[in-house]
Amino acid sequence: MTKITPQPGILDIAPYVGGASHVEGVSDVVKLSSNENPFGPSEATVEAFRRAGFELHRYPSTDHAALRAAIGAVHDLDPAQIICGVGSDEILHLLCQAYAGPGDEVIHTEHGFAIYRIGALAAGATPVEVPEKNRVTDVDAILAACTKRTKLVFIANPNNPTGTMIGADEVQRLADGIPETALLVLDGAYAEYVDGFDGGASLVTGRDNVVMTRTFSKIYGLGGLRVGWGYAPAHVIDVLNRIRGPFNLSTPALAAAEAAVKDQAWVDKCRSDNTRLRAWLAEVLAGHGVQSDPSETNFILARFADAEEAAACNEYLKSQGLIVRPVASYNLPEYLRITVGDEASCRRVAHAIGQFMGGAA
Ligand code: PMP
Repeated sequence: MTKITPQPGILDIAPYVGGASHVEGVSDVVKLSSNENPFGPSEATVEAFRRAGFELHRYPSTDHAALRAAIGAVHDLDPAQIICGVGSDEILHLLCQAYAGPGDEVIHTEHGFAIYRIGALAAGATPVEVPEKNRVTDVDAILAACTKRTKLVFIANPNNPTGTMIGADEVQRLADGIPETALLVLDGAYAEYVDGFDGGASLVTGRDNVVMTRTFSKIYGLGGLRVGWGYAPAHVIDVLNRIRGPFNLSTPALAAAEAAVKDQAWVDKCRSDNTRLRAWLAEVLAGHGVQSDPSETNFILARFADAEEAAACNEYLKSQGLIVRPVASYNLPEYLRITVGDEASCRRVAHAIGQFMGGAA
């Protein structure tokens, strides 16, 4: 038996399990399990990535100045208050590492993104799970759970895997109500899917206790490159930059993300296609007896009669080459999370679910 042991909390972490991308024995597979953009990155983004290939012998920028300037210009934010990370995951982890430790509490919602709990445990802190109201973030429940040990409060808005979101007034009430020693983290990984939504940026400006995180993995179609960013009060940016790896983002990742954020026409096109296809898919599934909450994201949380039916449907979809996401690990065993794909994929998954439900009736 080894005497070499990790820090307390680490062994309480269940390793994150990502979605599979192939099915044994099936060749024509469509992956609808990781909320990726089915249209991929824009042409300008791919071109910038290619060009960056000629710079591989150089270390990348350490301050990400060009990318931060581009993000700041597009979102009308001060680049000095922006930090870039290896996916927004890295920023979420850095926040836990910097602000929470043994004896501290980190609040997340009942069906909040898995990394909040993992980040808290990795930092030695105690994750505190707060109930939602019908799969929607419940501000009163969060405020009731706050103690003087609360250091971080994470909400994703819109949330993964529920797809739901709360309004600006509710978020403001949360920011106003948490203890003065706590930071509110607004995870805006899906913010671009909500027309006209700033991800909560306006609440960060002028306050010292709110941070917003964003990602290039979803609407920008760059999940494979791992780039995310945060917008935070200057005192938080200063702290995070002290512990961030100096060369955390590669040259191609920085170049592609910069081109991506400058290409808002692509973002607009992907948003409107997603909105149209999401409505179509939700309606067709409802016609097959599979309901879902109104989604503000690029996925639908489809509700089945029970855990057995959801698991059987998942197996059937797999046999048809359709990979969706069971969310039993989020304590939602009677649901399947289905990414809104392109038109052909939406038709295929809707048809297969129709066959399954018809066959099961
Ligand atoms: N937050 C939420 C709510 C997410 O769903 C995801 C990705 N699934 C992330 C953060 C992390 O995204 P990334 O690290 O790719 O930026």
